[in-house]
Amino acid sequence: MTGIAVLGSTNMDLVAYVDRAPERGQTVTGREFRTVPGGKGANQAVAAARAGGDVVMIGAVGNDEYGHRLRENLEHSGVDTDLLHTAEGPSGTAHIVVDAKGSNAIVVIPGANGVVTALGPGEIAAIAAADLLLLQLELPLSAVIEAARAGHAQGVRVLLTPSPVQQLSDELLDCVDLLIPNEHEAAELSGHTEPHAAAEVLLSHVPAVVITLGSKGCLYAARGSTAVHFPAPAVTAVDTTGAGDTFVGALAVAIGEGRPVPQAVAWASAAAALCVQKPGASTSMPYRSEIDAA
Ligand code: ATP
Repeated sequence: MTGIAVLGSTNMDLVAYVDRAPERGQTVTGREFRTVPGGKGANQAVAAARAGGDVVMIGAVGNDEYGHRLRENLEHSGVDTDLLHTAEGPSGTAHIVVDAKGSNAIVVIPGANGVVTALGPGEIAAIAAADLLLLQLELPLSAVIEAARAGHAQGVRVLLTPSPVQQLSDELLDCVDLLIPNEHEAAELSGHTEPHAAAEVLLSHVPAVVITLGSKGCLYAARGSTAVHFPAPAVTAVDTTGAGDTFVGALAVAIGEGRPVPQAVAWASAAAALCVQKPGASTSMPYRSEIDAA
């Protein structure tokens, strides 16, 4: 089994389903409200575990009802939560509006995620023991950089999802093996909206990049080879929340199993296409048998 350490956020997603998202200053009546366990870190952990990885989650939940549910949700999918700390105060929350087309807009309140500013010996050891380390930018940057450096120093492959997007230091990027932005993040980081042009700029900082393009699939580019576009399976999207995290979790498992990148990307695309066909984030992530069948 591929050993995967995830350092990242755990949030309760508070999701409002609407026909049309409100414009600035507007109020709309929605159709339905749900609380769904989420957070980019936890979502990637669940996705990787369901895809067949041996996953340990590093981060923090609050000492509230959401915290219990968030931990249980990870454990239910087989994620090791021994290094998921319980902090004083509220758990992180994400306030999400999903429209009739399945598109979303999100506000994140970090809560307990904000206390994860540094790593202890247990966290460093778990990262060193893993095959891959999955990072995002919803925890304090000091912890993300410390984890990236610890992983890189031990030869652990480091995958970074640069979300929420911000300018990244060389200190962090020098430790990253694969950068996985969506098209908006890629544009923001590179200054180019065209994915090939964006990938070329990003490759001056990291050895390889996968730019996810929603229903258009993704672009894989590595230093020294021609960029390859992978179309997404044609499906009817109900809710795209968590599609990117499903993609990353499944991709990590496939790479860890030694699959060639085109195969790994195709498998991850199948996983993400399954996720968008159901509502919710972690609840809609497919298990390995479902991905294989797709
Ligand atoms: P999110 O924030 O909603 O989790 P994201 O913005 O990080 O997603 P996207 O680029 O939207 O990431 O999607 C990630 C991957 O999910 C895509 O590369 C694609 O493989 C798959 N995907 C997303 N939307 C669709 C869709 N409508 N149909 C099929 N596959 C999709």
